[in-house]
Amino acid sequence: MPKPLVVLGATGSIGTQTLEVARRLGLPVAAVAAQRATPALLEVARAWPAAAVVIATDNAGERDRFQETLGRPVLFGPESVVEVAAQTDSTVINGIVGAAGLPASVATLEAGNRLALANKESLVAGGEVVLAAAESGGGELIPVDSEHSALFQCLVGEVAGSVARLVLTASGGPFFGRDRSDLADMTAVDALAHPTWEMGPRVTVDSATLMNKGLEVIEAHHLFGIDYEAIDVIVHRQSIVHSLVEFVDGSSKAQLGEPDMRVPIQYALTYPDRLAGTLPPLDLADRPLEFHTPDRDSFPALDLAFEAGRRGGSAPAILNAADEIAVEAFIDGRIGFLEIVEIVERTLEAVPHRELETVADVLSADGDARTMALSMISGSC
Ligand code: MG
Repeated sequence: MPKPLVVLGATGSIGTQTLEVARRLGLPVAAVAAQRATPALLEVARAWPAAAVVIATDNAGERDRFQETLGRPVLFGPESVVEVAAQTDSTVINGIVGAAGLPASVATLEAGNRLALANKESLVAGGEVVLAAAESGGGELIPVDSEHSALFQCLVGEVAGSVARLVLTASGGPFFGRDRSDLADMTAVDALAHPTWEMGPRVTVDSATLMNKGLEVIEAHHLFGIDYEAIDVIVHRQSIVHSLVEFVDGSSKAQLGEPDMRVPIQYALTYPDRLAGTLPPLDLADRPLEFHTPDRDSFPALDLAFEAGRRGGSAPAILNAADEIAVEAFIDGRIGFLEIVEIVERTLEAVPHRELETVADVLSADGDARTMALSMISGSC
């Protein structure tokens, strides 16, 4: 039976779908956390009257007003998020957006809890730190990202050393098939129209640049301990094959399903069990599944991420932070689509690289990259 859930990022896309799964499966929810005291959080808090409510912002006034409206005590500040994640005997689903999710991931694993990880930035920016926390605390790391859930499911029952290659599928995003000259004029409205998956704004824009897939390559490297040389990406427009594992004997396994995040979320909560879901049976008749080589010239983010991953140390943290800032600027209309990756590349060159041993090291590399990327965007650099 799954343990009580701690839902971090409870009002976001992953959090909302997790609560839906929890409701349907009758799972208890111990705590819900969100960045801000929004009407959406109020609704969640009222729907789960037994759950502790956490607001990550450290604005006491905001907390007081929210507490009064809700009529029950509310925890606040980033350290409260970490505290609820470290509550023993919980399953923590981390749906926080960005590197801000790292301290909670580490606390979850150090406390020996299961971490259902949707915050890919935890592994991208702080891979070594997160893995060390799992090692020392005995926590269990189950991926929620659909591709990594697919790889994880394909690897159940397999022994180490039998894997030849991991192949991550990419939808290709809304700009598949376009070349660089077309991409310059793309707006946030264009980029936010994802063909198959419904996701938050950052990951949707990251899908348009292919940066999302690049971050997922780094995530897969850490999760499964596979060298970058043995990780590949293939474009699959239909998003039915969620990823593949190729084994040394030439056999490949793939995991398939309709694109619906509630499936990997539920699996991460119930693993190793499988409980009934809500999707209709997968009908593949007359449904062509196509695969294409990614266009690495039009979408240079992919190779940039591979490069940062191979470089290791603070490079992936810098890549991720600069991208987060650049995507925000793109959504706000301050920079063009092609500039997203340019800013990331220039930030990687400008911020000194170093080794990362602690959460503080990761957050400091993250902060340096943000400052640099912001100053580039505002034109002062
Ligand atoms: Mg994904």
